Order: sequence, then C-alpha cells, then structure tokens
Amino acid sequence: MESERVNKLITLLEELRNNADQQVASKLEKDKCKRIVQRLSSFSVDCKDCYQYLVKFEEHLLQLKDKKDYFAEKDVKHHKQKIASISSHLQKQHKLVSSGFYLSIYMSIGTSLGVVFGLLIFDNVGLGLPLGIAIGVAIGSGLDADAKKKGMVL
Ligand SMILES: [Zn+2]
Repeated sequence: MESERVNKLITLLEELRNNADQQVASKLEKDKCKRIVQRLSSFSVDCKDCYQYLVKFEEHLLQLKDKKDYFAEKDVKHHKQKIASISSHLQKQHKLVSSGFYLSIYMSIGTSLGVVFGLLIFDNVGLGLPLGIAIGVAIGSGLDADAKKKGMVL
C-alpha cells in the first residue's frame, strides 16, 4: 500500500490525539495504532486480511474524527476491540510480538532457573534468584531489541 495512505492515517491519529483531552488521548494508544498502521500497510501487499483490516481501521478512525464527543465509554471499547483483533491477526499470521514480549518470558524463566540453581549450586535461593533474573533480563531484552530491529514488534 502507498506510504501516502499511511502518512495520512498517522496524521489523522495525531489530530485525534491533539483534539482529545489527556485522559482520552491515552486511551487512543496512538503509538500502538501507528505501529499497527505501519505493519498492516507493509503486509497488505501479500495479505488480503491485512488490507481489509487497514481499510476498516481507516474507516474507524474517520468515524471517530467525525464525532464531536468521541471516546465515550462505547467508543473506547470499540477501539480496544479493533486493536485487539488486528493485533491477534498480526501475531498469529505474521509472527509479530508485543513490545517487551521476550523480556517477560525470559524473566520468568530466569526466575525459575534462579531458584533451582540457587538451591542446587549455592544452597541459597537468595543468591541464585538475582543471578537468574539478571540473565533472563539480559537475554530477553536482547531478543526484544533484535525483534525491534527486524520490525517484528507490534
Ligand atoms: Zn495479514
């Protein structure tokens, strides 16, 4: 899809955000929407679903723009559902991960291993635990950075 369309959508998102008060603006999740638009656009060349999602998302944003008092309770729910269904498509079909995905996984692995090694090697959970967590954080944030570089983070 033409990048012109993406730029237009991003401008639209900025407008929505600037016109909303702060509380509403945070619910818009502008940065996440931006990434979603960019990913959808890059996949829409090969993926019909992504193309459809992008068209629908555009309609959705335009509808929000036309509303004066957008982001009432109902709109927030609707907006979140849109983001959730698109995210799940991107994660399942295109193997994208959410930001901090690897960190959370490796931190919990590190925590468990830390306990095990702490008991086995040091005979002291208090020594193993921080070591396990540190290793988990190092691996996880490395993988997150790598995924980000490859454009695989949602
Ligand atoms: Zn797709």
